[in-house]
Amino acid sequence: MSRDVDPFFQPISAMELARFAGVPTFMRLPHMTPDHPRFDDINIGLLGVPWDGGTTNRPGARHGPRQMRDLSTMIRAMNPVTNISPFASVNCADLGDVPPNPVDIQDSLNRVTDFISIMKKKNIVPMTAGGDHLVTLPILRALAIDGPLGLIQFDSHTDLFDSYFGGHKFTHGTPFRRAIEEGLVDPKRFVQVGIRGTAYNLDDIEWGMDQGVRIIRIEELFERGVPDVMAEVREIVGTLPTYCTYDIDFVDPTFAPGTGTPEIGGPNSFQAQQVVRELAGVNLVGADLVEVSPPLDSAGGTAWLGVSLIFELMCILSQSTEI
Ligand code: MN
Ligand code: MN
Repeated sequence: MSRDVDPFFQPISAMELARFAGVPTFMRLPHMTPDHPRFDDINIGLLGVPWDGGTTNRPGARHGPRQMRDLSTMIRAMNPVTNISPFASVNCADLGDVPPNPVDIQDSLNRVTDFISIMKKKNIVPMTAGGDHLVTLPILRALAIDGPLGLIQFDSHTDLFDSYFGGHKFTHGTPFRRAIEEGLVDPKRFVQVGIRGTAYNLDDIEWGMDQGVRIIRIEELFERGVPDVMAEVREIVGTLPTYCTYDIDFVDPTFAPGTGTPEIGGPNSFQAQQVVRELAGVNLVGADLVEVSPPLDSAGGTAWLGVSLIFELMCILSQSTEI
């Protein structure tokens, strides 16, 4: 996409204000709320969902957006591999955080849906930083109002379980089972990449396969290689509207230790970027990066990987046919 660059929507230059100075926003972009006079001109809205009320084991992802905002000030404007400059191609802004309710799951889910619904009405494509993986469910509720979406999930877990702790159906292990049941996702246009780790049982895998979900385990990704697998991913979702959800635990814990449920034997940080670059041409209507947990991230490297992947996703979103 070529157009005149809008100076208002450019990141603060590191030549004018050092990267470690000032109030951090995502990618040093302008912070805008719906009452801003130029809110309607936004194409991609970055937002945080600082909430981890769906977490079943080690918490901390509620602190993800704040640390990712901080580290995102190190991101420069151009992708060195694809030459895409998302901030020059489309208008990007930081829309702030969905205000969570830390003591009420359903209220928090509704708050996310309400926030994303405002964006959807304004044709602003959401790029969300979580939060735990349950935050994807209310995002899909807002985006799938015109019909079920395709879904590309990078994760070491399927998140397709039915319930936890005696019938509790809303956890970060269940969002995509709910999304299929609620008709938000077309299971035949749903592909999961990177699945691994010790298991409780095979209920999630078998249920997903029965629905038609394509589950690509890590062994298959490594045996076939990223380009071949991602060609199949693009084929599965086709040209219809599709959402991308990226759980940081897709990446090997050597590179992403700061997450609640790490699984060994995963992709390195280069392969983590590569799978996103292979999304070029997919009709993406939004994306998220979830499960970065700063309290478990002693050196901050996981949040840095997270925002670097958000930048890669923004490069793809900025070329999407939906914008
Ligand atoms: Mn997940
Ligand atoms: Mn996971």
